[in-house]
Amino acid sequence: MGADELKTVIRERAQAFGFSLCHVTRPEVDQKHVDALQQWSDEGLQGDMGWMAEAVRLERRKNPATMLDGVKSVISVAMLYTPPDYSQAEADSRKSSGVITAYAHGDDYHEIMKKRLKGLAAELDVMLGKHDQRVFVDTAPVLEHALAERAGLGWQGKHTLTIHKQHGSWFLLGEIFTTAEIEPDQRADNHCGSCSACIDLCPTQAIIAPYVVDARRCISYLTIEFDGFIPDALRTLMGNRIYGCDDCQLVCPWNGHAAKGEGIDVDYLMPKGENNLADLASLLLLDEEAFRIRFRRSPIKRTKRRGLLRNVCIAMGNSGVAAFVPGLLNVLNDQESLIRGHAAWALARLCDQQSCEMVLSALRLQLEKESDPAVMQELTSAIKDIKELL
Ligand code: SF4
Ligand code: SF4
Repeated sequence: MGADELKTVIRERAQAFGFSLCHVTRPEVDQKHVDALQQWSDEGLQGDMGWMAEAVRLERRKNPATMLDGVKSVISVAMLYTPPDYSQAEADSRKSSGVITAYAHGDDYHEIMKKRLKGLAAELDVMLGKHDQRVFVDTAPVLEHALAERAGLGWQGKHTLTIHKQHGSWFLLGEIFTTAEIEPDQRADNHCGSCSACIDLCPTQAIIAPYVVDARRCISYLTIEFDGFIPDALRTLMGNRIYGCDDCQLVCPWNGHAAKGEGIDVDYLMPKGENNLADLASLLLLDEEAFRIRFRRSPIKRTKRRGLLRNVCIAMGNSGVAAFVPGLLNVLNDQESLIRGHAAWALARLCDQQSCEMVLSALRLQLEKESDPAVMQELTSAIKDIKELL
């Protein structure tokens, strides 16, 4: 089989496994990505994701060849998911709802993609003879966007995600590393041009320069990866985003042109109604068991109940909806300090002339019982804020 014919067959088989895009490169990343990664790490922009800055992992990202002995080719694939069916302005205006990033509206993609990549790798073994192969989805130290760009799958936009001319950026990436030699594709050209919409529109100004995201300010990091008390100054900027953030994708003109609906896996990645602008009040009622049941097949389980309800408290605090006050009072003595602390913050922002006295006494009562210093600080500052209002 000739090189072109082989590539066509691989692409057809990749499509059969649900990968709408499939491109090949050598196990190398461009120097600009290596330098950018080093600078990002030197400046500590990875936040609490210390594992990303570990020397061994950094080196692996810079040198994909270290991920598999004798690796000759990297197959970069993309699985499309359904974009949100609302604009950010529409989502912002739904004060009783929380916004969940679109890829998390359906089932968890990690296991699905891994299984499919393994299926495709097994077929490659039949086509090309037995070779060593490894498959990766998101969690390994692999610079997936840099590899996708080098493979010609799409270019890395200024928001750092990969963009494809027809499909925009609504897809998830995966890779097969193989010792088989497959003709590489041409690197993708960058088509961001003079656009800076994602930089200008990012609610927390997390894109501090083209192609550089300060994770410590990024809502995706804060709501999913970060397991602590979210800095006060960022809480108000988060609006009603409770799991991830799609703002930089929603504003990207390439997503305005994206072919919607084609090639999306209806079994796994279609939105589940309840996660498409989720009801904040119902989420705040979830106990551990109810959280486990609702999100057992969803990537949202990653935040655990305490992370998600922390985010829900922030969204409520930003909503201006006084009807959330009773629910927030109920979680003021939750077993999780993260929830208690952020509920106190939200209560201080929501209470009005009618509810302030009641909220104030609940906060004082909780402060007397509280033993966690971080929550004590939240309670004290909430009490101070309310007293200033009275
Ligand atoms: S995901 Fe949201 S917060 Fe993060 S860079 Fe994009 S727009 Fe900014
Ligand atoms: S919004 Fe503009 S600058 Fe940002 S990724 Fe899209 S095209 Fe590039």
